[in-house]
Amino acid sequence: MADRDGVIWYDGKLVPWREATTHVLTHTLHYGMGVFEGVRAYETPKGPAIFRLQDHTDRLFRSAHILGMKLPFTKEALNQAQLDVVRENGLKSCYLRPMAFYGSGKMGVAPPVNDVHIIVAAWPWGAYLGADGLEKGIRVKTSSFTRHHVNVTMCKAKANGNYMNSILANTEATRDGYDEALLLDVEGYVAEGSGENIFVIRNGKMYTPDLTSCLDGITRNTIFQLAAEIGLEVIEKRITRDEVYVADEAFFTGTAAEVTPIRELDGRQIGEGKRGPITEKLQAMYFACVKGEAPKHADWLSLV
Ligand code: PMP
Repeated sequence: MADRDGVIWYDGKLVPWREATTHVLTHTLHYGMGVFEGVRAYETPKGPAIFRLQDHTDRLFRSAHILGMKLPFTKEALNQAQLDVVRENGLKSCYLRPMAFYGSGKMGVAPPVNDVHIIVAAWPWGAYLGADGLEKGIRVKTSSFTRHHVNVTMCKAKANGNYMNSILANTEATRDGYDEALLLDVEGYVAEGSGENIFVIRNGKMYTPDLTSCLDGITRNTIFQLAAEIGLEVIEKRITRDEVYVADEAFFTGTAAEVTPIRELDGRQIGEGKRGPITEKLQAMYFACVKGEAPKHADWLSLV
């Protein structure tokens, strides 16, 4: 991250950006055992607001629970920390990164269980897969890297170490000229993107992989609710890569990626090769929610 002014919440205090450092013997740096969140705040008519703050904080605690990591702060403190970080940095819209990690108290695989630290940083971050991608759709490649087996790592935890798999997949896809990777599970069924859940639409019905080997995405959940509002049925099932090839529409969801249409998978055009009408509708509904333009979903926003 570029050097910058501003503050980062670090173990209960707002510290200057440049002073929010940790020792090179930090356990999580060596072994990847940590948990984090990706959260966004948007500019709304009432000022900046964090989207689904409580849900993100709840998932952070679930991730820690899965890894057997005891967090030294309450959910309320973490919610407040995120609001404080947006406010104190004077940000109108931004990405937030809460993360809990083990300190340098002890080396070796067994972590220093009483040496857990938490940070919350925030910075402006535009469209994760490009503004153009949001409008025109992105080109995706099925990864040669398989998504984690459910008993190799814990897919329901948003855990630092899980992202080595995502990085391998994303790096391979982008190096080959694609925008993002699609990972299959150990049995060869569609799982998710390197940092996104996937939806496909065919003959007016929407499908998404069940959660066996994917992260329980908060944007995914938001799309379920928005789809219900327009009478669109969402079916959770196993999906094959060729089902994506013949879909009328497909899109990725994620806090960072928001709702990004997929126009191509493995060189096969999907539908018309552009953002489809249902994707466009759901995307517009999503942006209305996050930007405070959907009164019905005002409760998803926490004003800063
Ligand atoms: N899957 C993976 C692997 C992710 O990293 C993310 C981003 N957190 C998602 C799915 C989407 O989750 P969410 O909508 O909660 O951001």
